[in-house]
This record gives sequence, C-alpha cells and structure tokens, in this order.
Amino acid sequence: MTYKDLADLIFPNIDKTPEDYEKIYPERNLKEGAKVVRYAPSPTGFMHIGNMMSATINYVLAKSSGGVFFLRNEDTDQARTVEGAVDFIHHILNHYNIMPDEYEYQGKVVGEYGPYIQSERIEIYHAFVKYLISIGRAYPCFLTPDELTEIRDYQQKSKKRIGIYGKYAKCRDLTPDEAAKRIKNGEKFVIRFKSQGDFNRKFVFEDLTQGKIEFPENDLDVPIMKSGDLLPTYHFAHLVDDHLMRTTHVVRGNEWMSSVPLHYELFKTFGYKMPKYIHTSLILKKDGDTIRKISKRKDPEALMFYYEEKGYPIMAVIDAVLTIANSNYEEWRGNNPDKPFYEFPFSPKKMSPSGALFDLDKLDNISKNYIAKMKATELYQEYKNWAEKYNKEVYDIISKNETDTIKFLNIERNGKKPRKDYENYAGIFDKSWYMYDEAWNRDIEYHLGKITDKDEIIKIMEEYLDNYYNEEDLEEEWFNKIKELCTKMGYQENMKVYKENPNNYKGSIADFTMVMRVVLTTLDMTPNLYDIMQILGKERMKKRLEIFKLKY
Ligand code: GLU
Repeated sequence: MTYKDLADLIFPNIDKTPEDYEKIYPERNLKEGAKVVRYAPSPTGFMHIGNMMSATINYVLAKSSGGVFFLRNEDTDQARTVEGAVDFIHHILNHYNIMPDEYEYQGKVVGEYGPYIQSERIEIYHAFVKYLISIGRAYPCFLTPDELTEIRDYQQKSKKRIGIYGKYAKCRDLTPDEAAKRIKNGEKFVIRFKSQGDFNRKFVFEDLTQGKIEFPENDLDVPIMKSGDLLPTYHFAHLVDDHLMRTTHVVRGNEWMSSVPLHYELFKTFGYKMPKYIHTSLILKKDGDTIRKISKRKDPEALMFYYEEKGYPIMAVIDAVLTIANSNYEEWRGNNPDKPFYEFPFSPKKMSPSGALFDLDKLDNISKNYIAKMKATELYQEYKNWAEKYNKEVYDIISKNETDTIKFLNIERNGKKPRKDYENYAGIFDKSWYMYDEAWNRDIEYHLGKITDKDEIIKIMEEYLDNYYNEEDLEEEWFNKIKELCTKMGYQENMKVYKENPNNYKGSIADFTMVMRVVLTTLDMTPNLYDIMQILGKERMKKRLEIFKLKY
C-alpha cells in the first residue's frame, strides 16, 4: 500500500486536488498595491473591542488601497459556538458602516471566493489534507486522549518541550499498511502534519508591526484535521483559506504570533507565498495604578454592546479605535476633521507592539466633539433612535416634546465654540430632564448658590415673573430687565463694583440670576438661561416656582 492508497482509503469521495482549487479560485485581478484582507472571527463569543479594532484596520487597509475586505466565519470549533454571535458581528459591521465586500450571511453569498463559512468548506480542506497524506506529509495519528495526557505530563515533569515531535510522534512512522489496518479496525484518529523542521535551526520572519523576529523552525506534528466532525484546525484552515481567498495581509491578534513557525512551514510545504502579517497589540486598560489587559468579564466596555447601549456616535467609536491602533491617528484626524476615516494612511509600524491603552475618557472627549458638531435636528434624531431601543421612558418624553427638545439641544450649538455637554446619547436626559414637566415628579435637590433664604428666593421669582418677564423680549432687553430688578432688590448688577464692596449688597448679579436658574432647573450650571426661559415660557416657569415652594 502506498501513501496515495492510504489517502484514498481515508477520503474515498474526494476527487479534487489543490491544483483544481487553484483554478477555481484564481489570483484576483486587482491593481498593483491593492490589499486583500479579511476579518475572520470565531463565533465563540460576542464581538469585543479587539475584534472591532481588527475589523476597522482591515476596512481601512482595503479601502485605502482599492482592495477587497472579506468576512470569513471561522466556525470550526462547533462545540464552543455561541448563539447570536454571528448575527452580532453582522449587526456591528453594519452599524459602524464597515461592511465587508465579500461575505456569506443568511444563505446569501456575496463574492467569488466563498464559501465564506469554514464549516461549508470541509471538502476543500479534505482535498488539501488528502494531498498531504498522499505525498507522505500528513498521517493519521491514533494517540488516545489518555496517551496524550501521559506524554504531556511526562514532558512537563521532565521539563521537556511540550508537543508531539521526535520520539513522542508515535504514529509518524507507521507504514500505510499499518495505518490502514488500524483505520479498518475502527480506531479513532486525527490527521497530523508531518513536520520536517528542525528546532535548532532558525529563520527570520518579518511582521509588519513588530519587525524582524527570529524563530526556531517548527518541528511539531500538529493536528490539521480533527476526528469526529473532521473539521480542520485553525492552522490548516488559515493556510487553505488565506491562500485560496488570495489574502495579501493577515491582521490578527498577537496571540497567534507563536504559531508563525508552523504557518511558515505549512505555506512552504505547499509552495505558496505567505501573506504579510500584522499582529495587533493587546488592548490594555488602566485600573487604578496598574495597567492590565482589558477583560471581557470585568470591563463592560470590552464588549461592543456597551457603545450602543450608551449611545456613542459611530464615528467617535471608530476614531477611538483607530487612535489606539495607530499613534498618529489623532494628529491626522485633527488635521483632517472632515475626511473619511478610511483615507487615513494606516501604518502597521505605528502600532504599539507592547499593547495599546484604551481609555474611555479619550472616547468621551472624541465623542463630545462629534455630538457638539451635529445639527440639533440630527442630534435629536440620533438621540431618539437610541432612546427607542434603550430607554422607553426617555423615548416617550422626547417624542412628545420634539420641538422643545430640539430647541433645547440647539442652545449655544451654532457658534464658533459650540457647547460640549454630552459624551453619549444616554447622558443627555440627565442633563436636560428639567425641561420636561413629566420629569419633575421626582425627589428634587436644589443646588443653590449664595442666596438660600426661601422667602427671598420666592420674592425674587414672583417679582420677576409678574412684573418683568416678557416672552417677546430679545436677549439684551431681557438682561436689562433682570439688571433693573437686581438693583431694585439690593443686588449689584456690575461684578467689578460688587467685588470692591461686597458687603454693601445682598449679592451680585451672578447670585441673583443663579436663584432663577436653580428654581427653574434645580441646577447651578445649565445652558444659556435666556434660551431656557424662552422654551419654558411664563406659565411653566410659574409652575417651577410652585414646585420650589413645595419641595425646598
Ligand atoms: N478565528 C481566529 C480568531 O478569532 C482568527 C485569527 C485570524 O484572523 O487569523 O482569533
């Protein structure tokens, strides 16, 4: 029996060869320099910030080079597949407008290089495994789980390198006849790669992020096809898929760096050109005085749900992610505030090899700027869309009060330096609830300034509302009237004069207007008081005063 016979015995129904697939998936016809990249998540968990960074980098690399971005569902670990994970990936890519050019979803295949779901590519993998067996470069291995544990324990105890190599590769030298006999006897097996590397020899690998790295050659006979579902391992699928899909650049987590020697040998065995690699940095978080890896369990912001629940504008999240991906993104964005993010010349070298610090304060800052630049109507729409999904109560209130909400959001928005009040949509209501009559039915705490005497406050407000306030007044006139009343009641309208002799007055104009602000809003800091009064109108202001009388 030859290796070829053994290969036929294991895969009797596979008649295609790697060469056939070479023709089915020819080189892509793209212009010079165009990058073919992929986002290749395993649906074993929900998309996290590290995945988002990979997806975004891929999108940028493809768009900025006139290349192709495809999505590949790496579902070979079927036991660990999490329900909803794939839907969530599509949702996120859609939500952030970083959709791949090629993908497969809900029965729809877009692109000529599919299937894009690994479990649907099993025949292709088998053709490649079959070929390796037929040339004696892969073999069935019958080591049982108990035997493997025994080998591992022994290696650990005697401080040997862990893995199946050298004398531990017990099935490596079985003849095709011996192997065939055991298969026919129904023994379980995996297919292992038959490495020809030498651990004492080195080779140099060039990672686009980390630069040149010297590795020892691979000499491990790793499994390339599992028993049971007969699916390939990650390593083998990486070889087959990224070759046939004509990937030019692999963007993947740093945890795969240690597999480079194996991948190097696999590509070499088939004579295929290796793609270029960008191993991305770990995402770190500041936790008190220490810096640690961001954790899906401990840090809610690690998972992509967080940003939608809080209502961050999509561009703020993209900018924050690219800011951690490339140290010069922030500067570029500053110089090119209106350019699409994918025109950014992403440079793998400018990715920190040791890890990138993700900081929510930074995101908040970026986000405040985006929200400040939106038109009030646009912000209202985004805010309402968010509320519809995440806060029904707020949704009802702001839908009922659409005009007032837009007017409120518009306060001090159109000048050169618009207000930067909100970091996300979830934070708006907490800073605007007082504009809605529906929301005053709650425990109220008044953040008064210098003037705290209840009778005095009521006197100021009554006098003002009954005899001075006029909805028709423009801001200047409005302010003159306040000044007039302020003086009449023993306050000083001029701050400078006040500061010279503060004891001569009950307080300053600032103390005086503070009284109004607090009664109307409970807060000592709000957007422009004139605008707030314009929106509320006299009757509602009177109502606020009644509430003050009751609750203060
Ligand atoms: N499925 C792998 C993962 O989720 C992909 C790694 C790669 O991009 O090659 O980590």
